[in-house]
Amino acid sequence: MTLIRSPHAALALLALLLTGVAAAAHEGWRSVQLLVLALPLLVWLRWPLQSPAGRRLRRMLVSALLLAFLLDAAVRAFLWSQYQAFPHSSLVLAAVANTAPGEALEYLRHQGLGLALGVVALLGLGGLCLLLVRRSGEPALPLGRGERLLLIALLLFAVLAHASKPWRRHHPLLYWPGWVESVAELRRSWQDQDRERAQLMANALQAAPRRLDEAPSTVVLVISDSVNRDNMSLYGYERETTPQLAALARQEGDRWLTLRHAWSTQANTVGSLAGFFSFGERGPAQAAGRSQHVLALARAAGYRVWWMSNHDDVAIEQQHARLADEVEMINRQPGRTTSSLDRELLDCLAEALADPRPRKLIVLHLLGAHPHYESRTPADERPFDASRGDAVDARLERAGKPLWLRERRQSYDDAILHHDGVVAATLRQLRAQVPANGQAAWMFVSDHGQEVGHELIHAGHSPNSAAGYRVPALLWRSGAPFPAGAAERPFRLDWGGWALAELLRIDWQNQPEERNVLSAGYAWTAPALPLRQVRFDR
Ligand SMILES: [Zn+2]
Repeated sequence: MTLIRSPHAALALLALLLTGVAAAAHEGWRSVQLLVLALPLLVWLRWPLQSPAGRRLRRMLVSALLLAFLLDAAVRAFLWSQYQAFPHSSLVLAAVANTAPGEALEYLRHQGLGLALGVVALLGLGGLCLLLVRRSGEPALPLGRGERLLLIALLLFAVLAHASKPWRRHHPLLYWPGWVESVAELRRSWQDQDRERAQLMANALQAAPRRLDEAPSTVVLVISDSVNRDNMSLYGYERETTPQLAALARQEGDRWLTLRHAWSTQANTVGSLAGFFSFGERGPAQAAGRSQHVLALARAAGYRVWWMSNHDDVAIEQQHARLADEVEMINRQPGRTTSSLDRELLDCLAEALADPRPRKLIVLHLLGAHPHYESRTPADERPFDASRGDAVDARLERAGKPLWLRERRQSYDDAILHHDGVVAATLRQLRAQVPANGQAAWMFVSDHGQEVGHELIHAGHSPNSAAGYRVPALLWRSGAPFPAGAAERPFRLDWGGWALAELLRIDWQNQPEERNVLSAGYAWTAPALPLRQVRFDR
């Protein structure tokens, strides 16, 4: 600390620290821009101020601004390390806009040790910053002529930078208020989607879907969250995580279809469901235009549609759920946040199945294995917590996965096992309620996958690894058997609407057979995913 007794040394250290911070938060040229924006603070600190009150005021202002730079860098570095995403990316904006306060708290708790270490590091850096600011201005050393000219030149340069909008907008004090406004705007755009939905209904009525027969029909669509098929024993995982679904698959024979190579085309819920329900035509923010929505088509064909959800999700509710005739969101109680278990939806399903109407489409939206994994299972149903040293654990250890990640994997597998019971129960309920002289069908998919030490040292959503997109897709129907060989066809979730339309037994113009995985004319095109050298038939 004797070293930084000198104001010059303190200032130099401060400049060094800021350079490091800018480099951690931004890439290349952008970090230089950020440094230039912070430059006036350093110049001001060097300027000799005689009045102690003036120096105190300066200390406070400069410290506050430097802390803003520091915080800005910390948030950016965090988002980059977790999601390889910028704060303004649609991934981050949609996630924030779509998160209830209680959920945000749970998210922060879930970050656990990593977040705690980050906060400690941030506090340490902040403290160092304050110390250096204090030392930089005291005592007030007189300026030589050359130094004075240099400072004025630097200041002029910084003023010019502030005058330019492309530079200025990266200043934390301007950037973050704009970011908050973007989040609010996105939320507003979701808030009132009545017009969009009316347009989708009109589009569906115009397409005039017809029913292939007049027999009664009940279709259940189960959409889960964050389930990676590689963690299901039904798909070959070593831990027995899906005994009930596997038993159903054995019992049902060719009325059951396990699509072995199923992929989502988005690593997040909002994007993935937007694609699924619109036959791959729409992203979360695109206007309805002439596009179709499966739920609207089902209604136009005379189906009564239910949407039952364990999510508390504004975007999904506005873009999809409200197209249904009946909407039930069971996870709305404040304070309960996302700890509500999916099995609580089974009673709702039973009620809808008992409804006497001849044509029913019942959508269940589960939390599945969404982080935080422990919240998806009751405390007494976690057998894999004791699986340290088994084949999976040993494989992960050999691959250099740390203990904390292997423990996350255990919790994740516990969640998949509990989920197995819930999903299997939905089919058993439906099987018991196949309409007399009619048909029933069932489809189960996950919106996207999950990385839990599969490729990366990371647990969570994962836009940059295959694990983020590897999903299960299971089908069942009471009537015609599924075509032989369909199980090996690669499948993409944003084409899933075509398969669902077949299960609904509805038909309209311009239905491309080549996108319906159940059709003999199916022709696979791989989705454009940010993954290199991934084979989609695995
Ligand atoms: Zn999701």
